[in-house]
Amino acid sequence: MQKGKQIYEGKAKKVYQTDSADILIQEFKDDATAFDATKRGTIRGKGVINNTISKILFELLESKGIETHFIKQLDERQMLIKSVEIIPLEVTMRNIVAGGMSKLLGIDEGLVLKEPVLEYHYKNDALHDPLINEYHAKALGLATDEELDFIERRSFEINNILKAFFEHKNLILVDFKLEFGRHKGRVLLADEISPDTCRFWDKETREKLDKDRFRRDMGNVEEAYQEVLKRLTR
Ligand code: UDP
Repeated sequence: MQKGKQIYEGKAKKVYQTDSADILIQEFKDDATAFDATKRGTIRGKGVINNTISKILFELLESKGIETHFIKQLDERQMLIKSVEIIPLEVTMRNIVAGGMSKLLGIDEGLVLKEPVLEYHYKNDALHDPLINEYHAKALGLATDEELDFIERRSFEINNILKAFFEHKNLILVDFKLEFGRHKGRVLLADEISPDTCRFWDKETREKLDKDRFRRDMGNVEEAYQEVLKRLTR
């Protein structure tokens, strides 16, 4: 597969064309941003770790019947993916209150929710990814009724699969963000699943092992990402 022109550069990834029209290369960078990119930095080795963690989780989900954009890992920082038209929704799944939900509702971090909460955020940096509901999504034509039903069902399934998997690795899956995309008439799970897009707490100590260490200047950021990878691969 020939690597072609770069067609996109985001905060944590670059995307390149290949010689096949519906296949792309996704490259993971070490750059990190938070708070709408007002905080910027580098997490050494993050790209390599997130590429591998995403690969492991996409393969796990595929093995359970969840279609994803992942095709295969190419090297340390790059994976081959199916080209999708990203649906402009950030789907957040929450098992425990943290971050945005804690702030929005004035609830202390750590409250275990009676059942998982699904949130839609309109994917729009200039508006700071505002919280919307399915009626906004439909009325604004961001996704169809059918697509939203599918995304909702899939997101709860993905949460069940990932929660059980991480539990086994002594990690609590607090919350995470998913993105979906359209590919040849189907809706696939896209983007990445990594400590950049999930919150993980150690099951015993509740130590944070994710991007909150960067957001909150807690130190040992690289070490936390390494630790998640280590637990997933042993
Ligand atoms: N998240 C993400 N990208 C975003 C916003 C959030 O991957 O642009 C992830 C985040 O890492 C966390 C979950 O989505 O695992 C919920 O984030 P929240 O809404 O609490 O926002 P935050 O506190 O990160 O601003």
